[in-house]
Amino acid sequence: AAKRQGRNCYHYYTTAMQDAANSRARLSNDLHQALAEKQFEVYYQPIVELATNSVHKAEALIRWQHPTLGQISPAKFIPIAEDTGLIVEIGDWVFRQAAAQAVRWRNLLDPEFQISVNKSPVQFRADHGSHLSWFGHLRDLGLAGSSIAIEITEGLLVEASDKIRGQLLAFRDQGTQVALDDFGTGYSSLAYLKKFDIDYLKIDQAFVRNLANDSSDMALCEAIIVMAHKLGIKVIAEGVETAEQCALLKQIGCDYGQGYLFARPMPADACEAALLQGRPGPA
Ligand code: C2E
Ligand code: MG
Ligand code: MG
Ligand code: MG
Repeated sequence: AAKRQGRNCYHYYTTAMQDAANSRARLSNDLHQALAEKQFEVYYQPIVELATNSVHKAEALIRWQHPTLGQISPAKFIPIAEDTGLIVEIGDWVFRQAAAQAVRWRNLLDPEFQISVNKSPVQFRADHGSHLSWFGHLRDLGLAGSSIAIEITEGLLVEASDKIRGQLLAFRDQGTQVALDDFGTGYSSLAYLKKFDIDYLKIDQAFVRNLANDSSDMALCEAIIVMAHKLGIKVIAEGVETAEQCALLKQIGCDYGQGYLFARPMPADACEAALLQGRPGPA
């Protein structure tokens, strides 16, 4: 019986792996058409300034509406787009969408409105001057560099090549701020924060989730905030879902919050309507 069970397990295992590989191959294939067939959309999630309950920033988050599989999570397709190199083209497209939105919201909502765009390490490594074309695009739209912020991950800083350093400096020269995303899940080396002149640190939702009932998460968040502030860095808490988490974050001096408590990522028009009505503000 044991042997039979073992065989079944083995069989099940390979089938699951095969399914995963097939699904990956299929998605990878379908991703090639997705841009041309306009299956992507950029959603926006407000970033709330906790002290004033006001919104002057939002994060651009891509969505893929697959023609037969429905909406597919970026957590699933971004890694595939990175492996195939398609992330470069997709990332340029997200950037241009975000820039157009920044023009509109700077006119309509707030002249200082800032949209943050996630930029994968693959985009930095593949860069043959594309960041220069981003700057050119902003100039063509009459937009200041400060209208966009770039969200990067810790792995990029660990890599620390001259090429990457050069690009980060070029963004800085344009007034484009840099946020370190998912802080606490990677290397979290304090040395990088100093060396790379980061503007924002985004505390990963893993540390925010249990803030109310895990005193060590509370201690970690507090320590991160104190340290960041001493280095002149503002802190954004990700994944804020409850009023209790929000109150605790305010208490320990967190600058900004982002999460379902305030608003989910939304299509541009829905986000605009919410912001025009002064939502999401007070939680
Ligand atoms: P991220 O940059 O850390 O984005 C935050 C993620 O947390 C988003 O997931 C957002 O929808 C989700 N989130 C926001 N508030 C809450 C909350 O209160 N609770 C919970 N549980 N989740 C919340 P999303 O949109 O699925 O994106 C996942 C990841 O995919 C992003 O993580 C980012 O790494 C990547 N991604 C998304 N759009 C792009 C893009 O345009 N370019 C690149 N390179 N990566 C992207
Ligand atoms: Mg992000
Ligand atoms: Mg994050
Ligand atoms: Mg994340």
